Amino acid sequence: MTRTIALLGHPVSHSLSPAFQQAALDATGIDARYEAWDTEPDDLRIAVERLRSGDVLGANVTVPHKVAVMALVDAPDAVAERAGAVNTIVNRHGRLEATNTDILGVLRTLDAARVEVHGQRIALLGAGGAARAVILAMHQAGAARVTVINRSTARVSALNTLAVEGLDLRYAPLDPADATFLGAIRTAAVIVNATPLGMTHGPAEEASPIPAGMLTEAQVAFDLVYTPEETPFLRDAAACGARPVGGLGMLIYQGAASFRLWTGIDPPVDVMFAAARAALAARS
Ligand code: NAP
Repeated sequence: MTRTIALLGHPVSHSLSPAFQQAALDATGIDARYEAWDTEPDDLRIAVERLRSGDVLGANVTVPHKVAVMALVDAPDAVAERAGAVNTIVNRHGRLEATNTDILGVLRTLDAARVEVHGQRIALLGAGGAARAVILAMHQAGAARVTVINRSTARVSALNTLAVEGLDLRYAPLDPADATFLGAIRTAAVIVNATPLGMTHGPAEEASPIPAGMLTEAQVAFDLVYTPEETPFLRDAAACGARPVGGLGMLIYQGAASFRLWTGIDPPVDVMFAAARAALAARS
């Protein structure tokens, strides 16, 4: 029987997951189809119920359903509870177990790029869902301080509920004229962009969240945006001598962790990277 793995989101047509997950399924000889199910918020409950069927291995969950789906699964694990969001569901004989592999995706990306965050200061631009995963990953990796830099304050306040004991979590406005902004960027070992600035079809394709020329050779610039792979933020960072780390790794490593949960098999991440890059190239 051909099994199904679903992607629940809205919209989902832009997602790279079907391309690289199907490539990994094919490469490992697993008889399964990875399908994008475009699911409006009102239809989420019905879509989640479909996951209980015997031919479904599980699902990925993406924007805007990551939080709402928590209440619809049977067993969100401790990681999902900490994040307050689910990105992976596993169907175990009709019982839906759920977790969040985004945190692992951040940790594996930093690990693969040999970026040391233990005891370091981090400047994090953005305070949305992706930023939450970054904060939890930095806490887990033993970062000393994370300064969240955001345009507005509403989402920043919501971060206070995160369980990050021992992490010095601070805030600064997204304002290059502000002293706390400048101090946070200058003293950070790693500067992370978790805003859509610089993203193709995003609010400002040519924009970087920080002014050009601010970084140094001692710093790492980690952009969660992966379309394009070389963003304005990463380009500016490289021009300063700082080390650029792109967002494609986070996408692939979170997907690889989900794949392992659905199938019990370690996926070939090189195949996943190649398929994702081919899908990106086909679009541009
Ligand atoms: P989100 O929950 O909507 O949060 C967006 C954040 O960006 C908010 O802090 C928002 O600030 C800020 N922002 C949005 N537009 C802005 C603008 N024009 N100027 C300044 N700040 C702006 O989104 P998300 O899910 O966290 O995703 C953020 C980015 O990460 C996206 O580009 C997404 O593609 C990327 N991402 C990558 C991966 C990966 O696997 N590599 C995974 C998840 C997300 P306000 O609070 O002021 O609105």
